[in-house]
Amino acid sequence: MPNENSPLSPLVAHSYMEIHLFLQMTVCENCTAAPLQPLSHNLPSPAPSESAITVFTTCGHCQHPHEFLFEIPKDALPTKFDELTPINKTSQPSQLIDLAQWVTLDQMLYEDSSNESDAKLARRLAIKASLCLGEALKFFQDPDNDLPPVEAFFQESSRSRFMQNPQLYSRQRILALRAKRPVATPSEFSQHDSQK
Ligand SMILES: [Zn+2]
Repeated sequence: MPNENSPLSPLVAHSYMEIHLFLQMTVCENCTAAPLQPLSHNLPSPAPSESAITVFTTCGHCQHPHEFLFEIPKDALPTKFDELTPINKTSQPSQLIDLAQWVTLDQMLYEDSSNESDAKLARRLAIKASLCLGEALKFFQDPDNDLPPVEAFFQESSRSRFMQNPQLYSRQRILALRAKRPVATPSEFSQHDSQK
């Protein structure tokens, strides 16, 4: 599932949180030195008649501007960057972030959590890490195979990491990592969601 960053073909997103995480994992094609800036403010709502939103961001290194068009579910509510919200309520794997990137996100968030002195924030980061591992597990379609299909790695760099060390991405390892992460109680999720 290659990502076509053309404004004509929207990228399929399941939530604003998924978009935030996607920007964090997307390297600037202009300087290839840094990922794009995750948004620190509220993302725009789609117009009532539309299901797509345009997101503008810049590279954290060279300031090169980037523009993406995302197709997003009509009931997705704009999310503050630090809120805890479900990433993808469907059982379908992400089309924006591949399996290796979800595992990397887990590691980044869990490290952030370990360095965070505010206990509440640290827990929220660790829960977010756990949600990323949940997204990684959606790529395992064959219950008899502990290894994911190669199609689960749609970035070239991810695919070569998988080829070099497939055991890093085995279901067993991801389940073992997730067992070390906290599980959210429903009340810890953003109020947006429980109001529905
Ligand atoms: Zn750049």
